[in-house]
Amino acid sequence: MTTEFTDLGLHPQLVQAVTERGYTTPTPIQTAVIPTMLTGQDILGQAQTGTGKTAAFSLPILHNLKPGQGHVQALVLAPTRELGLQVAEAMAEYGRYRQISVVAVYGGTPYGPQIGALRRGADIVVGTPGRLLDLIQSKKLDLSQVQTVVLDEADEMLSMGFIDDIEAILQQTPAERQTALFSATLPNQIRQLADKYMRQPQAITIERAQRTVSTIEQRAYLVNEEDKLAALTRLFEVEPITSALIFARTRQGTAELANELTVRGFPAEALNGDLSQQAREQVLNRFRNNQIKVLVATDVAARGLDIDDISHVFNFDLPQDAEIYVHRVGRTGRAGKTGVALTLLTPKEQWRLRKIEQYNRHKVTLAALPTS
Ligand code: AMP
Repeated sequence: MTTEFTDLGLHPQLVQAVTERGYTTPTPIQTAVIPTMLTGQDILGQAQTGTGKTAAFSLPILHNLKPGQGHVQALVLAPTRELGLQVAEAMAEYGRYRQISVVAVYGGTPYGPQIGALRRGADIVVGTPGRLLDLIQSKKLDLSQVQTVVLDEADEMLSMGFIDDIEAILQQTPAERQTALFSATLPNQIRQLADKYMRQPQAITIERAQRTVSTIEQRAYLVNEEDKLAALTRLFEVEPITSALIFARTRQGTAELANELTVRGFPAEALNGDLSQQAREQVLNRFRNNQIKVLVATDVAARGLDIDDISHVFNFDLPQDAEIYVHRVGRTGRAGKTGVALTLLTPKEQWRLRKIEQYNRHKVTLAALPTS
């Protein structure tokens, strides 16, 4: 039996936000952590990045929050500015239907804007230990009413020498708070920290499985947005495509792209939510019977597509989430066949591809476009 987001006891507005983000089912760590955190228990979680741990601790926090109380109710400590910003952005996104405010604070930038944001009222603060401590000591940040504290990537924070800062920060929060600690490894120092600051934490360990199949060759091509169509056409000219599924972000994008390809001599059809059930079936039948070799689809429209013979998957746009990438790429290389998954990547998206690689534990080769 699989658990659904609706089974976890979360506020419907949160379920709506994650569903709209493209999450269909909770990951194992979410299934384990969310109900436990909702009961108020402490958590000692061993999990790496890529398991979905951010949503695992964020959703219960957002569920328990009462917006607009005028004081900080939850605090997340993260080792780096980059991770802190990612967590803050994810929380703001999951909480978009609740009137909550998330403020990120981190070193290496001026204090002014961060202090201003705190003064305007933060329900949740996400920050790196050094800057958090500075703000506490200068009385710009009051943690006396915090209900939940999360230590994210605790082993990283310790290896960066933040232990004293972390302890000093924890001492500024109420003793009866809920504490959740996440770490890829649990060395002694972390266990000691847990013994000292947590109350009978529930231990949760999540292994991360290999996500994508190794028989799928994955390549990415660096192109500017406006050159994507030319790049795709070029790849169509050289790749040994027997049938291809192209993913595009929007419905309109699928229709336009199908037209552009057709005009260029590669007959293609769009599969999107604008089609009636009957039209959808017809398109799929033509694809199965090899009357058309190329489908351009949105993620939603491709859901439940049961076709084994796709030689090439194209990401015309890099998906927002690692899990969606996995779903897309997994459309090829089925039934023991080899497959190729090609991604058109804009320079700005390179960091997102790196996250996807981490999640999949599989490298995507950066390749040069073939010249004519
Ligand atoms: P994290 O381990 O929190 O860094 O998450 C890794 C990636 O998985 C991020 O791209 C998340 O947006 C994505 N993700 C988290 N939970 C889910 C879910 N239930 N379904 C699909 N993707 C998810």
